[in-house]
Amino acid sequence: MAYRICVIEGDGIGHEVVPAALEALRATGVSFDVQPAEAGWECFERQGVALPEATLDAVCQADATLMGVMFSPSRLVEGYRSPAVTLRQRLGLYASLRPARSWPLSRSRPGVDLLIVRENTECVYARPEERRGDDMAVVERVITRQASERIGRKAAELAAGRRKRLTIMHKANIFPLTCGLFRDAVRQAAQAYPDVQVEEVFADTLAMRLLREPERFDVIVTTNLFGDIISGEAAMLCGGIGLAPSASLSDTLAVFAPVHGSAPDIAGRGVANPMASMLAGAMLLAYLGERDAAERLTAGVEAAIHAGAITPDLGGRATTNAVTDAVISAMQTGRPAQAEPARPPALPPWCALDAEAELAFLQDDSVLLEPLPDCSALEE
Ligand code: ATP
Repeated sequence: MAYRICVIEGDGIGHEVVPAALEALRATGVSFDVQPAEAGWECFERQGVALPEATLDAVCQADATLMGVMFSPSRLVEGYRSPAVTLRQRLGLYASLRPARSWPLSRSRPGVDLLIVRENTECVYARPEERRGDDMAVVERVITRQASERIGRKAAELAAGRRKRLTIMHKANIFPLTCGLFRDAVRQAAQAYPDVQVEEVFADTLAMRLLREPERFDVIVTTNLFGDIISGEAAMLCGGIGLAPSASLSDTLAVFAPVHGSAPDIAGRGVANPMASMLAGAMLLAYLGERDAAERLTAGVEAAIHAGAITPDLGGRATTNAVTDAVISAMQTGRPAQAEPARPPALPPWCALDAEAELAFLQDDSVLLEPLPDCSALEE
């Protein structure tokens, strides 16, 4: 039986990377009936609406959705709101899963295998109506117990199936009410998974520690805005945003997409990296229970990287089509992916470990769990 998948190309390089991912998905041998749907800036310009009701219906009726990227201008446009944010909120896609792992590239840190679980519906995205006067602008941050417990449960469940370590990323020293509620609710939810070791790390400290010791992290759960930012950092540690996939899940619906944006600077030139979309496709296969196909597609990406079939964003010269051919041929020949000897990239001087005491501080979780001194005057 063919799976029914909704496919939304979106804008910019979405028209290049999504067809490439679809080609790779079909090459796994799994059957799909594709339902194309529209959303994004180009759709808004054509139809006056960024996320048509027909697209929401198509996502709801599909077994899963493969989505490209949607452009959002960094200025207020009457009637336009990020369709990706609207989609998550309208369909209750409350959990964004953003895995980051090492790849056989010299620019990829070895030993990384982590999963960021980002709460997808609240925080400063919950009420998007920013208010602005002449000299002041305000946005509200909303955190609820229900949404925090829900994402906490999901993250703990995922950690239980991995290395059993859950890190709560928050900033409760500065936002004791909003981040405090999030932290408490996640801790509460995680009690249902007694095997999972729970720790908490302040958001700014985690941004540093992720650079210093990324291999130490397993599942990181956090609020919407922190999750957006830290997943960009994690993607760069592992080679770049062209290799970062994501899933947005409710309890019944699933939308898979690359983390990157529409990249208008390279759109239409045939050099966009399709691997993030292919890896989103592999997550889609795993979600559908097609584990073997998911592993073959991921191995195909790894083999293509190993063979040097990479686009300019990863330091190569291959086109989108050449990468797609390399991934598909690696899948079909079953050539095993062999990682080249891992070589950590040189760290910038400000990141180099130069004092044992500093390292011990960073590795000592208890530092973060003790009652906090009042250091608000020192915080930005
Ligand atoms: P948007 O405004 O839609 O968020 P963006 O291009 O500004 O899109 P990013 O996705 O963060 O946002 O991309 C930043 C830059 O990284 C792009 O301008 C592009 O040069 C590069 N880039 C992003 N994705 C890819 C990709 N898949 N392949 C190659 N380069 C990419």
